[in-house]
Amino acid sequence: MYDVAIIGGGPAGMSAAIYAARGGMKTIVLEKLSCGGQVLKTYEIDNYPGFSNNPTGEELAKAIEEHAKKFDVTFAHENVKSIENAEYDVKIIHTRKNKYMTKAIIFATGATPKMLGADGEAMLQGAGVSYCATCDGAFFKDKDVCVIGGGNTAIEDALYLAPICSKVYVINRSKRFRASKSLMETARANGRIEFIEDSVVERFNGTTMLESVFVKNVVTGEKSTLKVSGAIVAIGVVPSSGIAKETGIETCERNFIKTDIYLATNIKGIFAAGDVRTTPLRQVITAAADGAVAATSAVNYVNELGIKSV
Ligand SMILES: Cc1cc2nc3c(=O)[nH]c(=O)nc-3n(C[C@H](O)[C@H](O)[C@H](O)COP(=O)(O)OP(=O)(O)OC[C@H]3O[C@@H](n4cnc5c(N)ncnc54)[C@H](O)[C@@H]3O)c2cc1C
Repeated sequence: MYDVAIIGGGPAGMSAAIYAARGGMKTIVLEKLSCGGQVLKTYEIDNYPGFSNNPTGEELAKAIEEHAKKFDVTFAHENVKSIENAEYDVKIIHTRKNKYMTKAIIFATGATPKMLGADGEAMLQGAGVSYCATCDGAFFKDKDVCVIGGGNTAIEDALYLAPICSKVYVINRSKRFRASKSLMETARANGRIEFIEDSVVERFNGTTMLESVFVKNVVTGEKSTLKVSGAIVAIGVVPSSGIAKETGIETCERNFIKTDIYLATNIKGIFAAGDVRTTPLRQVITAAADGAVAATSAVNYVNELGIKSV
């Protein structure tokens, strides 16, 4: 029987493990792949406090994992499949091979950015092709970049990049933008942002680094090459919230887990942290902070449960 079971070993899950273990909880982290989460896909981290040497994603993930392993935490290489008795004081987590009993659960299952599926995309990821303007914007200082997408995230990314980059092209497949009217007005008024409408990126060009994108106008069929050093693909993020939803945990219309300020979900004893929940910023630092808050809430919940059952 565990006090706290954490599903996911990314920055949120590993930070939660540190706080839960230090709070005296018998803690387990269930991670289906290697610990580290999306950080492992990151070439270089420039914005995590205390690491001014720009570690690779792998180095930062390793440092967080080693820190978590200093405490009395069990790490299991397991893929969580379902949760039974979610509403009860003792919940049961089913993995492919085992089942674990626990008093509290923290969902730290993260999210995955949607890929465009264009030629050259996979090869140039981290070499100019990015999915996060906040993460990589500084690498494109005084350079021309493009943002692909037409929702709030894409326009917010363009506005974030405009003061950093010399030119920001926003490439959207139609003339209709899903972004809010006020964001669109601000972006249209910005002299550094140029809109390329009715267009799609068909190919990312470059050998070792991105050099240009091949753009096709879907109305006229016209094709052109746009020289850019960076391309931010901002067409959405998919949360890993399927199991949470099947468990009866409430999500927003985009399937992110809803929480209160203590990071509690609608089911008592179940919390959520990091990219999988509704949050305005998805970064390592916010995931780590969420892990701390969710674990502290879980510790308080388990301690109260103990008092009640005496
Ligand atoms: C290319 C890229 C570059 C980035 N660059 C930066 C950057 O420079 N700076 C920055 O601050 N942020 C950056 N980010 C964002 C940052 O990586 C994320 O915000 C952060 O990793 C979120 O942490 P998390 O723990 O919430 O989720 P994740 O990192 O997504 O971890 C979730 C973990 O849960 C596991 N999991 C999921 N489902 C299950 C299951 N059913 N059973 C067991 N395990 C499961 C997954 O395998 C994964 O390891 C970048 C992201 C990407 C994709």
